Amino acid sequence: MAYDDQNIFAKILRGEIPNKTVLETPHSLAFHDIHPARPTHVLVIPKGPYVTFDELAANGTDAEIVDFVRAVGEVARLCGVVESGYRLISNNRGHGHQDVPHLHVHVFGGAPAGPMLRRVER
Ligand code: AMP
Repeated sequence: MAYDDQNIFAKILRGEIPNKTVLETPHSLAFHDIHPARPTHVLVIPKGPYVTFDELAANGTDAEIVDFVRAVGEVARLCGVVESGYRLISNNRGHGHQDVPHLHVHVFGGAPAGPMLRRVER
């Protein structure tokens, strides 16, 4: 599927929509989720036009991938959730229930994340 450069995170990256930045690196941006689900709820996105994690993994440069992974860890440190613990979630496409078609990792912390996904009957 082609990348839609009108998605909301593309607009944030172009500065067309404001955001509360937590961290900016050469290849990544982290900002507070507009509807936080935990006291810490930060989104980390690559600056490149990747919809899903597998696209970044397959097509991203080493520099982009390293920068993105380091940015996620740095956000956890900056938000002070490393000791207490945190959860990372990345929703990808339909079954992943992805709403915004630009790769993002949610960083949740500051309160218990709760159990894993509920098992579904097969
Ligand atoms: P997902 O369902 O994984 O695609 O998550 C998209 C997330 O983007 C949701 O948690 C939204 O609350 C968040 N979101 C949508 N618009 C904005 C925005 N303008 N600034 C920050 N977060 C946003």
